[in-house]
Amino acid sequence: MKTPDLWLGSESIWHDDRGTFEPGWIIIRGTRIVALAAPGDTPAAGAQVRNLGPLRVLPGLINTHVHLEFSGGTEPLRDFYAEDDFERLLRATRNAHHLLMSGVTTVRDCGSSWSMLALARRPDLSPLPLPRLLCSGPPITVPRGHLHFMHGVVRSEADISAHVDRIEHEGGQSVKVMASGGKLTPGSDPARTVFSQRRLDLIVALAREKGYPSVSHVLASESIRRSALAGFDSLEHCAFMERNDEGHLQRVYDGDIAQTVRDCGNHVMANLSTTTNRFERLRAQAQRTPAEDDLLRHFDDKIDTFRRLAELGIPMVCGTDSGVLEAPFDETWREVAYLVRSGLSHAEAIRAATSRAAKALRLEGKTGRIAPGLSADLVAIANNPLADETAFAKPRLVVLRGRTVLDRIAA
Ligand SMILES: [Zn+2]
Repeated sequence: MKTPDLWLGSESIWHDDRGTFEPGWIIIRGTRIVALAAPGDTPAAGAQVRNLGPLRVLPGLINTHVHLEFSGGTEPLRDFYAEDDFERLLRATRNAHHLLMSGVTTVRDCGSSWSMLALARRPDLSPLPLPRLLCSGPPITVPRGHLHFMHGVVRSEADISAHVDRIEHEGGQSVKVMASGGKLTPGSDPARTVFSQRRLDLIVALAREKGYPSVSHVLASESIRRSALAGFDSLEHCAFMERNDEGHLQRVYDGDIAQTVRDCGNHVMANLSTTTNRFERLRAQAQRTPAEDDLLRHFDDKIDTFRRLAELGIPMVCGTDSGVLEAPFDETWREVAYLVRSGLSHAEAIRAATSRAAKALRLEGKTGRIAPGLSADLVAIANNPLADETAFAKPRLVVLRGRTVLDRIAA
Protein backbone atom coordinates (compact mmCIF):
# COMPACT_ATOMS: atom_id res chain seq x y z
CA MET A 1 0.00 0.00 0.00
CA LYS A 2 1.22 3.48 -0.82
CA THR A 3 2.08 5.65 2.17
CA PRO A 4 -0.26 8.64 2.29
CA ASP A 5 1.10 12.16 1.87
CA LEU A 6 2.09 13.96 5.05
CA TRP A 7 0.75 17.48 5.56
CA LEU A 8 3.13 19.16 8.01
CA GLY A 9 1.70 22.45 9.24
CA SER A 10 3.24 25.34 11.14
CA GLU A 11 2.60 29.02 11.88
CA SER A 12 6.24 29.67 10.90
CA ILE A 13 7.81 28.01 7.87
CA TRP A 14 11.15 29.41 6.69
CA HIS A 15 11.08 31.14 3.33
CA ASP A 16 14.67 31.35 2.09
CA ASP A 17 14.25 34.02 -0.63
CA ARG A 18 12.36 36.42 1.56
CA GLY A 19 14.25 35.60 4.76
CA THR A 20 10.97 35.39 6.70
CA PHE A 21 8.71 32.87 8.39
CA GLU A 22 5.23 32.31 6.99
CA PRO A 23 2.33 30.07 8.02
CA GLY A 24 1.31 27.14 5.86
CA TRP A 25 1.63 23.45 5.06
CA ILE A 26 4.52 21.43 3.68
CA ILE A 27 3.23 18.46 1.71
CA ILE A 28 5.59 15.48 1.80
CA ARG A 29 5.28 12.42 -0.41
CA GLY A 30 7.78 9.69 0.41
CA THR A 31 11.21 11.33 0.64
CA ARG A 32 10.33 14.63 -1.05
CA ILE A 33 8.48 17.86 -0.60
CA VAL A 34 5.87 17.86 -3.40
CA ALA A 35 4.05 21.11 -2.68
CA LEU A 36 3.46 23.96 -0.26
CA ALA A 37 -0.08 24.95 0.73
CA ALA A 38 -1.59 28.06 2.27
CA PRO A 39 -2.70 28.00 5.92
CA GLY A 40 -6.38 27.98 4.92
CA ASP A 41 -6.04 24.97 2.61
CA THR A 42 -7.61 21.72 3.75
CA PRO A 43 -5.46 18.58 3.77
CA ALA A 44 -6.44 16.11 1.07
CA ALA A 45 -8.64 13.18 2.12
CA GLY A 46 -6.55 10.31 3.43
CA ALA A 47 -3.50 12.46 4.07
CA GLN A 48 -1.62 12.22 7.35
CA VAL A 49 -1.76 15.55 9.15
CA ARG A 50 0.61 16.93 11.73
CA ASN A 51 0.37 20.48 12.93
CA LEU A 52 3.46 21.84 14.69
CA GLY A 53 1.68 25.05 15.71
CA PRO A 54 4.14 27.70 16.90
CA LEU A 55 7.28 25.63 16.23
CA ARG A 56 9.53 27.11 13.55
CA VAL A 57 10.23 24.82 10.63
CA LEU A 58 13.42 25.24 8.62
CA PRO A 59 15.48 23.11 6.25
CA GLY A 60 17.72 20.65 8.10
CA LEU A 61 21.12 22.22 8.79
CA ILE A 62 24.12 21.52 6.57
CA ASN A 63 27.60 21.23 8.04
CA THR A 64 30.18 21.50 5.25
CA HIS A 65 33.28 20.56 7.25
CA VAL A 66 33.72 17.81 9.83
CA HIS A 67 36.12 14.92 10.46
CA LEU A 68 33.96 11.98 11.48
CA GLU A 69 36.88 9.74 12.47
CA PHE A 70 38.37 12.25 14.90
CA SER A 71 37.45 12.20 18.58
CA GLY A 72 36.93 15.91 19.27
CA GLY A 73 38.86 15.34 22.50
CA THR A 74 41.89 17.17 23.86
CA GLU A 75 44.23 14.87 21.87
CA PRO A 76 42.44 14.00 18.62
CA LEU A 77 45.59 12.88 16.83
CA ARG A 78 46.64 10.55 19.63
CA ASP A 79 43.13 9.06 19.61
CA PHE A 80 43.28 8.59 15.84
CA TYR A 81 46.57 6.70 16.01
CA ALA A 82 45.40 4.59 18.94
CA GLU A 83 42.41 3.22 17.01
CA ASP A 84 42.29 0.80 14.09
CA ASP A 85 40.14 1.12 10.96
CA PHE A 86 37.21 -0.75 12.52
CA GLU A 87 37.18 1.34 15.67
CA ARG A 88 37.40 4.53 13.61
CA LEU A 89 34.47 3.40 11.48
CA LEU A 90 32.40 2.81 14.60
CA ARG A 91 33.40 6.21 15.94
CA ALA A 92 32.56 7.86 12.62
CA THR A 93 29.13 6.21 12.60
CA ARG A 94 28.39 7.44 16.08
CA ASN A 95 29.63 10.96 15.31
CA ALA A 96 27.52 11.15 12.15
CA HIS A 97 24.47 10.06 14.15
CA HIS A 98 25.13 12.79 16.74
CA LEU A 99 25.19 15.36 13.94
CA LEU A 100 21.80 14.17 12.71
CA MET A 101 20.29 14.23 16.21
CA SER A 102 21.47 17.83 16.57
CA GLY A 103 19.50 18.89 13.48
CA VAL A 104 22.14 18.45 10.79
CA THR A 105 20.66 16.50 7.86
CA THR A 106 23.60 16.90 5.45
CA VAL A 107 27.25 16.56 6.38
CA ARG A 108 30.47 16.74 4.43
CA ASP A 109 33.46 14.90 5.82
CA CYS A 110 36.58 16.89 4.89
CA GLY A 111 39.23 14.23 5.48
CA SER A 112 39.27 10.62 6.60
CA SER A 113 41.04 7.35 5.93
CA TRP A 114 40.05 5.35 2.84
CA SER A 115 38.34 2.73 4.99
CA MET A 116 35.77 5.23 6.29
CA LEU A 117 34.32 5.48 2.78
CA ALA A 118 32.44 2.28 3.65
CA LEU A 119 30.04 4.68 5.34
CA ALA A 120 29.55 6.55 2.08
CA ARG A 121 28.96 3.33 0.14
CA ARG A 122 26.66 1.54 2.55
CA PRO A 123 24.95 3.98 4.95
CA ASP A 124 22.00 1.55 4.83
CA LEU A 125 24.06 -0.90 6.92
CA SER A 126 24.40 1.54 9.80
CA PRO A 127 22.45 0.49 12.90
CA LEU A 128 21.78 4.19 13.61
CA PRO A 129 20.09 6.70 11.31
CA LEU A 130 22.72 8.86 9.60
CA PRO A 131 22.55 12.23 7.85
CA ARG A 132 23.15 12.54 4.11
CA LEU A 133 26.93 12.09 3.90
CA LEU A 134 29.32 13.55 1.38
CA CYS A 135 32.74 12.07 2.03
CA SER A 136 35.99 13.47 0.68
CA GLY A 137 38.09 10.48 1.74
CA PRO A 138 41.78 11.22 2.33
CA PRO A 139 42.64 14.81 1.45
CA ILE A 140 45.07 15.24 -1.44
CA THR A 141 48.33 16.23 0.20
CA VAL A 142 52.11 16.25 -0.36
CA PRO A 143 54.63 13.84 1.22
CA ARG A 144 54.73 14.66 4.97
CA GLY A 145 52.00 17.27 4.32
CA HIS A 146 48.88 18.01 6.36
CA LEU A 147 46.99 14.78 7.28
CA HIS A 148 49.39 12.69 5.15
CA PHE A 149 48.71 9.74 7.50
CA MET A 150 45.26 9.40 5.92
CA HIS A 151 47.06 8.20 2.77
CA GLY A 152 46.14 10.86 0.23
CA VAL A 153 49.76 11.70 -0.68
CA VAL A 154 50.36 12.57 -4.35
CA ARG A 155 53.66 13.12 -6.15
CA SER A 156 52.54 13.78 -9.74
CA GLU A 157 49.61 14.83 -11.90
CA ALA A 158 49.01 11.16 -12.67
CA ASP A 159 48.73 10.51 -8.92
CA ILE A 160 46.15 13.29 -8.60
CA SER A 161 44.07 11.84 -11.39
CA ALA A 162 44.28 8.33 -9.91
CA HIS A 163 43.29 9.70 -6.50
CA VAL A 164 40.11 11.37 -7.82
CA ASP A 165 39.19 8.17 -9.68
CA ARG A 166 39.66 6.19 -6.48
CA ILE A 167 37.41 8.59 -4.56
CA GLU A 168 34.67 7.89 -7.10
CA HIS A 169 35.35 4.15 -7.06
CA GLU A 170 35.15 3.96 -3.26
CA GLY A 171 31.98 6.03 -2.89
CA GLY A 172 33.33 9.50 -2.06
CA GLN A 173 31.53 12.53 -3.49
CA SER A 174 33.81 15.45 -2.72
CA VAL A 175 37.43 16.32 -3.49
CA LYS A 176 39.54 17.94 -0.81
CA VAL A 177 43.08 19.25 -1.10
CA MET A 178 45.47 20.53 1.53
CA ALA A 179 46.87 23.52 -0.39
CA SER A 180 48.89 24.61 2.64
CA GLY A 181 50.28 22.99 5.73
CA GLY A 182 48.13 22.50 8.83
CA LYS A 183 48.49 22.94 12.55
CA LEU A 184 47.36 19.46 13.57
CA THR A 185 50.09 17.60 11.66
CA PRO A 186 53.54 17.70 13.28
CA GLY A 187 56.17 19.00 10.86
CA SER A 188 53.64 20.60 8.51
CA ASP A 189 53.91 24.41 8.17
CA PRO A 190 50.59 26.33 8.04
CA ALA A 191 52.36 29.31 6.42
CA ARG A 192 53.62 27.22 3.49
CA THR A 193 51.75 26.76 0.20
CA VAL A 194 52.46 23.27 -1.09
CA PHE A 195 50.67 22.93 -4.46
CA SER A 196 51.34 24.81 -7.70
CA GLN A 197 48.62 26.71 -9.55
CA ARG A 198 48.68 24.09 -12.29
CA ARG A 199 48.02 21.22 -9.87
CA LEU A 200 45.23 23.06 -8.09
CA ASP A 201 43.63 23.84 -11.48
CA LEU A 202 43.85 20.14 -12.34
CA ILE A 203 42.16 19.08 -9.08
CA VAL A 204 39.22 21.44 -9.70
CA ALA A 205 38.89 20.27 -13.30
CA LEU A 206 38.83 16.59 -12.26
CA ALA A 207 36.25 17.25 -9.52
CA ARG A 208 34.01 19.16 -11.97
CA GLU A 209 34.21 16.33 -14.49
CA LYS A 210 32.64 14.07 -11.89
CA GLY A 211 30.20 16.69 -10.60
CA TYR A 212 31.79 16.72 -7.14
CA PRO A 213 32.29 19.82 -4.99
CA SER A 214 35.93 20.84 -4.63
CA VAL A 215 37.30 22.15 -1.37
CA SER A 216 40.71 23.53 -0.45
CA HIS A 217 42.33 23.85 2.97
CA VAL A 218 44.01 27.25 2.91
CA LEU A 219 45.92 28.64 5.87
CA ALA A 220 48.86 30.31 4.03
CA SER A 221 47.96 33.53 2.16
CA GLU A 222 49.36 32.31 -1.16
CA SER A 223 47.35 29.09 -0.87
CA ILE A 224 44.18 31.21 -0.60
CA ARG A 225 45.08 33.16 -3.74
CA ARG A 226 45.91 30.11 -5.84
CA SER A 227 42.88 28.13 -4.68
CA ALA A 228 40.56 31.07 -5.38
CA LEU A 229 41.95 31.39 -8.90
CA ALA A 230 41.63 27.63 -9.44
CA GLY A 231 37.90 28.01 -8.76
CA PHE A 232 37.42 25.76 -5.72
CA ASP A 233 33.80 25.72 -4.57
CA SER A 234 34.92 26.26 -0.98
CA LEU A 235 37.97 27.68 0.74
CA GLU A 236 38.49 26.43 4.29
CA HIS A 237 39.77 28.62 7.15
CA CYS A 238 41.25 31.45 5.01
CA ALA A 239 43.71 32.30 7.76
CA PHE A 240 46.20 34.54 5.85
CA MET A 241 48.93 32.81 7.85
CA GLU A 242 52.46 34.18 7.57
CA ARG A 243 55.61 33.84 9.64
CA ASN A 244 57.01 37.03 11.15
CA ASP A 245 60.71 37.84 11.49
CA GLU A 246 60.95 35.79 14.70
CA GLY A 247 59.39 32.84 12.95
CA HIS A 248 56.06 33.09 14.80
CA LEU A 249 52.82 32.41 12.97
CA GLN A 250 50.50 35.36 12.57
CA ARG A 251 47.48 36.34 10.53
CA VAL A 252 48.29 39.09 8.04
CA TYR A 253 45.10 40.05 6.23
CA ASP A 254 45.70 40.75 2.54
CA GLY A 255 43.05 42.93 0.90
CA ASP A 256 44.14 42.06 -2.64
CA ILE A 257 43.78 38.34 -2.03
CA ALA A 258 40.41 38.90 -0.36
CA GLN A 259 39.31 40.81 -3.45
CA THR A 260 40.45 37.89 -5.62
CA VAL A 261 38.31 35.51 -3.54
CA ARG A 262 35.31 37.80 -3.98
CA ASP A 263 35.86 38.08 -7.74
CA CYS A 264 36.28 34.31 -8.15
CA GLY A 265 33.05 33.62 -6.27
CA ASN A 266 34.38 30.90 -3.93
CA HIS A 267 32.48 30.14 -0.72
CA VAL A 268 34.41 30.53 2.53
CA MET A 269 34.12 28.24 5.55
CA ALA A 270 35.61 30.00 8.57
CA ASN A 271 34.79 27.54 11.40
CA LEU A 272 34.52 30.38 13.91
CA SER A 273 33.13 28.22 16.69
CA THR A 274 35.86 25.55 16.71
CA THR A 275 37.41 25.21 20.17
CA THR A 276 35.35 28.15 21.49
CA ASN A 277 34.26 26.05 24.47
CA ARG A 278 37.89 26.18 25.51
CA PHE A 279 38.34 29.86 24.62
CA GLU A 280 35.27 30.79 26.64
CA ARG A 281 36.77 28.94 29.61
CA LEU A 282 40.10 30.74 29.16
CA ARG A 283 38.47 34.17 28.94
CA ALA A 284 36.65 33.55 32.21
CA GLN A 285 39.93 32.66 33.96
CA ALA A 286 41.32 35.30 36.35
CA GLN A 287 44.89 34.59 35.26
CA ARG A 288 46.27 33.33 31.99
CA THR A 289 49.67 32.25 30.75
CA PRO A 290 51.26 34.21 27.87
CA ALA A 291 50.53 31.19 25.63
CA GLU A 292 46.85 31.31 26.59
CA ASP A 293 46.71 35.05 25.91
CA ASP A 294 48.26 34.33 22.55
CA LEU A 295 45.53 31.79 21.76
CA LEU A 296 42.83 34.33 22.54
CA ARG A 297 44.57 36.95 20.40
CA HIS A 298 44.67 34.50 17.48
CA PHE A 299 40.96 33.91 17.92
CA ASP A 300 40.20 37.65 17.91
CA ASP A 301 42.27 37.99 14.70
CA LYS A 302 40.27 35.15 13.18
CA ILE A 303 36.97 36.93 13.91
CA ASP A 304 38.41 40.16 12.52
CA THR A 305 39.44 38.41 9.27
CA PHE A 306 35.98 36.89 8.96
CA ARG A 307 34.33 40.30 9.39
CA ARG A 308 36.41 41.81 6.61
CA LEU A 309 35.72 38.94 4.21
CA ALA A 310 32.00 39.04 5.00
CA GLU A 311 31.89 42.80 4.45
CA LEU A 312 33.20 42.25 0.92
CA GLY A 313 30.11 40.11 0.29
CA ILE A 314 31.98 36.79 0.08
CA PRO A 315 29.45 33.96 0.56
CA MET A 316 30.06 32.33 3.94
CA VAL A 317 29.08 28.75 4.73
CA CYS A 318 28.70 26.82 7.95
CA GLY A 319 31.34 24.30 9.00
CA THR A 320 32.66 23.37 12.42
CA ASP A 321 35.76 21.20 11.87
CA SER A 322 34.11 18.85 14.39
CA GLY A 323 36.50 16.16 15.56
CA VAL A 324 39.57 18.37 15.92
CA LEU A 325 40.66 19.79 19.28
CA GLU A 326 37.62 19.98 21.58
CA ALA A 327 35.23 20.43 18.65
CA PRO A 328 32.14 18.28 19.33
CA PHE A 329 29.65 16.85 16.83
CA ASP A 330 26.43 18.15 18.36
CA GLU A 331 27.13 21.87 18.28
CA THR A 332 26.61 23.03 14.71
CA TRP A 333 24.19 25.51 16.31
CA ARG A 334 27.22 27.17 17.90
CA GLU A 335 28.69 27.99 14.47
CA VAL A 336 25.41 29.67 13.47
CA ALA A 337 25.61 31.66 16.73
CA TYR A 338 29.19 32.76 16.04
CA LEU A 339 28.35 33.72 12.46
CA VAL A 340 25.78 36.15 13.89
CA ARG A 341 28.08 37.37 16.68
CA SER A 342 30.79 38.01 14.08
CA GLY A 343 28.68 40.19 11.83
CA LEU A 344 26.25 38.21 9.65
CA SER A 345 22.56 39.03 9.92
CA HIS A 346 20.43 36.28 11.45
CA ALA A 347 18.91 35.49 8.03
CA GLU A 348 22.36 35.28 6.41
CA ALA A 349 23.60 32.94 9.14
CA ILE A 350 20.58 30.67 8.53
CA ARG A 351 21.36 30.64 4.80
CA ALA A 352 25.04 29.90 5.52
CA ALA A 353 23.87 26.70 7.22
CA THR A 354 21.15 25.81 4.68
CA SER A 355 20.72 27.11 1.12
CA ARG A 356 24.19 28.55 0.69
CA ALA A 357 25.89 25.50 2.18
CA ALA A 358 23.88 23.35 -0.24
CA LYS A 359 25.24 25.43 -3.10
CA ALA A 360 28.83 25.04 -1.88
CA LEU A 361 28.26 21.27 -1.87
CA ARG A 362 26.57 21.36 -5.31
CA LEU A 363 23.41 20.02 -3.70
CA GLU A 364 21.12 23.01 -4.29
CA GLY A 365 18.89 20.86 -6.49
CA LYS A 366 18.45 18.37 -3.63
CA THR A 367 18.32 20.10 -0.27
CA GLY A 368 18.84 23.35 1.66
CA ARG A 369 15.43 24.98 1.11
CA ILE A 370 11.79 24.16 1.75
CA ALA A 371 10.55 23.91 -1.82
CA PRO A 372 8.69 21.43 -4.04
CA GLY A 373 11.01 18.85 -5.60
CA LEU A 374 13.60 18.99 -2.85
CA SER A 375 14.29 16.34 -0.24
CA ALA A 376 12.09 16.57 2.87
CA ASP A 377 15.00 17.46 5.18
CA LEU A 378 13.57 19.56 7.99
CA VAL A 379 14.18 20.74 11.49
CA ALA A 380 11.64 22.23 13.91
CA ILE A 381 12.76 24.50 16.76
CA ALA A 382 10.99 26.42 19.51
CA ASN A 383 12.78 29.78 19.41
CA ASN A 384 12.97 32.34 16.61
CA PRO A 385 16.39 32.14 14.90
CA LEU A 386 15.85 35.65 13.49
CA ALA A 387 16.09 36.95 17.08
CA ASP A 388 17.98 34.24 18.99
CA GLU A 389 21.25 33.09 17.41
CA THR A 390 21.33 29.99 19.63
CA ALA A 391 17.85 28.85 18.54
CA PHE A 392 19.13 25.70 16.79
CA ALA A 393 20.65 24.31 19.99
CA LYS A 394 17.77 21.99 20.89
CA PRO A 395 15.82 20.81 17.86
CA ARG A 396 12.37 19.45 18.69
CA LEU A 397 11.90 17.51 15.47
CA VAL A 398 14.31 16.31 12.77
CA VAL A 399 13.08 14.90 9.47
CA LEU A 400 15.47 13.36 6.94
CA ARG A 401 14.22 12.37 3.49
CA GLY A 402 10.65 12.40 4.78
CA ARG A 403 11.42 10.19 7.77
CA THR A 404 11.13 11.51 11.32
CA VAL A 405 14.43 10.64 13.01
CA LEU A 406 14.04 12.73 16.17
CA ASP A 407 10.78 13.70 17.84
CA ARG A 408 10.87 15.56 21.15
CA ILE A 409 7.52 17.25 20.69
CA ALA A 410 5.40 14.87 22.71
CA ALA A 411 7.89 14.87 25.59
ZN1 LIG B 1 39.34 20.19 8.88
